[in-house]
Amino acid sequence: MVNNYRYETFVPLYITNHCDSQCKICNLRSQNKNVERKEGDKEQILSQLKIILEVEGISAVCFLTGEYKPGTKRVENLELILWCIEQAFMMGFQKVYFNIGSLSDSEVARISEKFNGDERIVLSLFQETYHRETYRKFFGYDDKENPKSDFNQRLSTPERWMQAGFKQVDIGVLLGLRDPEYDVKNLIEHAKVLSEMGARVHISLPRIRGVDKVPYDISDHEFKNIVADIAKALPEANIIVTTREDVEVLKELLKYAKIISPGSSDVLPYTKEGDIPNNLSTSQFQVAPIRKRPSWVLNSLELKGGSIRYYSV
Ligand code: SF4
Repeated sequence: MVNNYRYETFVPLYITNHCDSQCKICNLRSQNKNVERKEGDKEQILSQLKIILEVEGISAVCFLTGEYKPGTKRVENLELILWCIEQAFMMGFQKVYFNIGSLSDSEVARISEKFNGDERIVLSLFQETYHRETYRKFFGYDDKENPKSDFNQRLSTPERWMQAGFKQVDIGVLLGLRDPEYDVKNLIEHAKVLSEMGARVHISLPRIRGVDKVPYDISDHEFKNIVADIAKALPEANIIVTTREDVEVLKELLKYAKIISPGSSDVLPYTKEGDIPNNLSTSQFQVAPIRKRPSWVLNSLELKGGSIRYYSV
């Protein structure tokens, strides 16, 4: 038994691919008629959790959905996520992330009422870009029909989450929207503010995948330098690397990362055996139509003696 873990892991679990937002770079944007919309029911979600926990041996998960405009669907989605988090802990998951978009004050209060600052819960919410004009271009501008277009509500959510007594946040930028220098600088500042509030800060640095033309192409070399710079500026932060990246790139990032997240952005994709799907018609983005299961990815990384928390081989 190793007590001094070097890495952590978690698996993403998309429970739906419905979304009211209109993000130009996302396959799940509401206007995309090519997506076959799917939504998991509670029984299907529980069976996915069972596979992640018992077959894959991974006891940390991130629940993801699209973002809904104010109204019944948005309320129902939040309640479903609260149910998911509760079920996951009851089953034996040790850490739960959730990513459902920005939160209003009343939504933070509702989560707080239910989980009262539970330190095992991580709010996952990436600003994507801190540059307002770029944000407007790709995510819209204060449009009531497009919930993600509210830049300020998104930016203020992690601080309001911390003020409610929670302890863990996962912030990030979407690399490839613009020249990364401004965003990286602002991401570091944002992380420092949250850290001073007592947060355990996680940093996500997804590169745009699955679009015909990336607005600002970031090479592997530039990407590695960005990750290295952030690791240097924020030594306490938990940099997350995911299987958006090829395994060879992942291996090179291991010296900077603290968390490895393998999985698929398809809806409820985990199976009891064999590969897992990443269909373009149902996923947020496609890396390849068929993907390796999370445990296979973790086993294929050469950790050089490092071990993985929340993963029992
Ligand atoms: S990035 Fe998120 S909020 Fe935007 S369209 Fe995709 S799923 Fe919806």
